[in-house]
Amino acid sequence: MKKTLLATTVLALVAVTILRGGAAEVTIDGVAGFQDTPMQPDGKWHVHDPARPQPPVVTPGTFSENAKPPADATVLFDGTDLSHWRDQRTGGEPTWKVVDGALITGRGYLQTTNEFGDLQLHLEFREPTPPKGEGQARGNSGVFLMGKYEIQVLDCYNSKTYADGATGGIYGQHPALVNACRPPGKWQTYDIVFNVPHFDADGKVTTPAYITVIQNGVVVQNHQAFRGATNWKSPGKYTAHGHIGPLALQDHNNPVAYRNIWVRPVAVVNDP
Ligand code: MG
Repeated sequence: MKKTLLATTVLALVAVTILRGGAAEVTIDGVAGFQDTPMQPDGKWHVHDPARPQPPVVTPGTFSENAKPPADATVLFDGTDLSHWRDQRTGGEPTWKVVDGALITGRGYLQTTNEFGDLQLHLEFREPTPPKGEGQARGNSGVFLMGKYEIQVLDCYNSKTYADGATGGIYGQHPALVNACRPPGKWQTYDIVFNVPHFDADGKVTTPAYITVIQNGVVVQNHQAFRGATNWKSPGKYTAHGHIGPLALQDHNNPVAYRNIWVRPVAVVNDP
C-alpha cells in the first residue's frame, strides 16, 4: 500500500514537472526555450523554440510619445484615473497603483470595463530599471486584445528570449519583424490596429483576428493573422466569441509601467 502511494506521488510529481515545463527547458545560443512543445502549423519551429531566429535589432527614432488623444478617442488612462479598469479575476477594484502619473502592474490582470471590436489603440510602457531577471522574467507584461490575443510586452533590450515570446510578438505564434526596443527606464510606444475574428454558425473561424503593431515608430507586426487565442506552450486555438471584448494588461510579477492609453473604434472598411 505504501509502495503504491509512493509510486503515485512520484508519478504525480513527474507529471507536474512536465506540465510546468521545468525539466524540459533547453538553452540554445543563450536563449532559453522549449523543443518538446507542439510544432507551429507551418511545421518549422516548436512553440517557444529557442532556435528560432531572433528578430533583428532596429534602433528606433521618435514617433508617438506623449501623443495627445484624438477628439473621438476613449481615454482609458490619463495618468490619474482608473475608473475604466477593474481586476480581471474579481471584477473589483484594481490592485494596480498610479505612481507619478504611471500605472504600475499590481497583482492580477487589469481589464477594461468597456468592450471593443475593431480598434486603434495607443499606449506607452516603461520597463523597470535597473533590469532584473532574464528572458521571460525580464519586465514581462502584455496587451491582451479582447482579453485573449496577446501582444507581448517584455524588456528585450540587449536581452534574448525565445523569438515568439519577445517584445512585439504575438505570443507563442509570430515573432516581431524586428526588435525595436528602447532601453529599460525609457518610455516606449505601441500603436496598434486590431481586427476582430469572425466565426460561422458552427463556431468555426471564417476570418482570423489581424493585428498591425508599431513599436516606437517601427512596424513589428504587419496585418498579421492570429492562429487563435495566445497561450503558453500552445500554437493558438480559436474558440468562438462575440464581436467585442475588453482590453487587458498582464501581471507577470514584474513592475512594468503604463501611461497614455487611448482607443478608437475603427471600421475595417468605409462602407456607409
Ligand atoms: Mg507577457
